[in-house]
Formats: sequence, C-alpha cells, structure tokens
Amino acid sequence: MDVVRTCIRKMSAYIPGDAADDPKVVKLNQNESRFPPSPRAIRAIEAAASGLALYPESTSRALREAAAKVYSVPASRIMAGNGSDDILRILFQCCCDPGDRAMAFYPSYSYYATLADMYDVDYRLGDFAGDSAIPDTVQFDAATLVVLPHPNAPTGAVFPERDVRRLLETAPGLVVVDEAYADFSGQTVLPLLDEYENLVVVRTFSKSYGLAGLRVGLGFAREELLAEMEKVRDFYNLDRLAQAGAVAPLADNVWVRRRPGGVVAGRGAALPPLRELGLTVYPSGANFILVRFRDEAEAKRIFESLRSRGVLVRYFTGRGLADCIRVSIGTETDMVVFQNEFEALLE
Ligand code: PMP
Repeated sequence: MDVVRTCIRKMSAYIPGDAADDPKVVKLNQNESRFPPSPRAIRAIEAAASGLALYPESTSRALREAAAKVYSVPASRIMAGNGSDDILRILFQCCCDPGDRAMAFYPSYSYYATLADMYDVDYRLGDFAGDSAIPDTVQFDAATLVVLPHPNAPTGAVFPERDVRRLLETAPGLVVVDEAYADFSGQTVLPLLDEYENLVVVRTFSKSYGLAGLRVGLGFAREELLAEMEKVRDFYNLDRLAQAGAVAPLADNVWVRRRPGGVVAGRGAALPPLRELGLTVYPSGANFILVRFRDEAEAKRIFESLRSRGVLVRYFTGRGLADCIRVSIGTETDMVVFQNEFEALLE
C-alpha cells in the first residue's frame, strides 16, 4: 500500500447522503429536485442515445453556447463539468500545489475539504460573523482558493453583494463562488466576472434543473484561467446524453422561468409551522432548510425515526451541526408527509 500517496491514505472518503430509488421514499436528504425536469430534456436524451457509438464533442460546445445565451457570459468563458463537483476538482488540481492553502467559512460544503485532502492542500475554515455573515476582515493566510457556496450550504444563508465584493477585493487568490443553489435565491455574482479577474462562478444542473442524475455543472472564469483548467479536464467529461439533456432545458424558456417557483413557495410554507414548534429554522435562499433542535439526542432521534417512516433528511456530525437536520424542500405532497411525520415524532 505504500504506492498510495500519503495524503490519500490519510484522508477519509466523502460520504454522500443515502441514495434511494424507491418512489415511496420521501427523499429530502440530498437537495435534489423533487420536481420533474423539462420534458424537452428527456426527449433530447432519448434522441442522443442513437449516437452512442461515437465519442461526444469534447468541449460540450453546444451546451456552452446555449449557456452563454442564458447567463449572458461568452461561451469562451464557460467550462462544462461532469457535475459542478468536477469543476471544483479541476480548480483544486489546477491551482493548488501540495502545501498551498485553501479556505472557506464554517459550516460549508464538505466536499471542499475532501478535495483539499486529495491534493494535499492545507484547508482552513474561518468563522462567519454571527450566524452567517462574511466577516469585515478575513484571515486569508495566503489562501490560493477561497470557496464560498452562495447560498451557503448547509445553512442556506444569502450574503449581500457588497460582502462578496469585499472578499474579491481582499483575497490573495481566486474566490470561487459556488452558486449551486442560486436559482432559489435569485442572486448571482455572474455579472461581476467582468470586474474581478479572480472570480470563478460554479453552477449546477443538479438542483433547479432537476437533473442530478445526469451530472452536469458549469464553471465561469476568465479565459486565461479556463485555458489552464482545460489541460486537466477529462476531455470527454460530459457524455453525449449529458450534453444533450442539459442543452434542451436551457432553451425551454417557459419551463426555465417557472422552475424555482415550487421550491420557493414550499420553503416559505415550511418555515412557520416549524418555528411554531419552538425550533430554530435558519433563513434560507436555497432548496433546503436547516432545523436546529434542543440537543443532539433529539436531532438524531428525529432523523432516525423519520428514516424508519420513509422520510429521508440529512444529519451531520460536524462541529455545531449535530443538533440539526437539513431538509430539502420537496413537492407540496412531500412537505405534507414530512410535516405530519415530524409533528407526530415531536409530540
Ligand atoms: N456545491 C454545493 C454547495 C452542493 O451542495 C453540491 C451538491 N452536493 C454541489 C456543489 C455538487 O453538485 P453537482 O451535483 O453539480 O456535482
């Protein structure tokens, strides 16, 4: 086993939430969409299947061109990834030498720590000011990368643009704004790409587009950086089905406009009854909410009891999170089942 790099042997593997294909399970644990994707995506995937004998177009050109129109960013400043995790991995691989620093604010998306371990990067977690504000002064410790999910995961917090700008102006290296959940907050820093050369924005089709199973993400950055990232990108990172299935909904204007509506309404409706039960529920701009209980034992009991009743939510063991559960916002029916089971368990 000494052929394996020391940093890999020392690291723990990332643990995703439980997968479950059973349609009877109310699956609110991985922030996927419980609403169906655009029917055009399904038709496009079926049509693309006839071409599977041939390799896909290596740079996902049609997808980048369709994304350019929707996001008003030139296709030359967009990279397609096999999920946004792929873009994040490419960034770490491309920008961090062993021993370099990367930073985020705690709590954050835990895959960043896994990536740091993979590339032997010294990953530092700063504290938010109060519950979830970006502090006025940040101890960057010469970090090559600063990673910021926006809205934050797993809290759902949304940050004022001036705070993101301050980060961009004071960070010594790149600031990666991970906008996996941005469609549910309506806030994006994509227009800042022209202003800040150190800004990278990451997007995904796994949440608002309802295509988590297709594995498609996008990275937006200045062309010089993308040219370097190209060197480490797996040149067939998106298969034909993924490219076709992601292009189609970008062109489906009606569906795209309606897309985050169900989640935003469900999120608004989910908060008051939980707060009436005396629980802390953090304000969220994402497709999930973080609920805090009186203690760890209660959070764990509720998580496990919900699971035994066919409702999956996410439980974390990290610092300051072990008394919380994270609940993805599902359809109206999902949320009724969740609320009923939940209230029965609390009584
Ligand atoms: N960023 C954040 C903040 C996430 O929560 C997730 C989903 N786990 C991702 C990125 C990865 O999404 P994708 O499915 O596009 O790899």
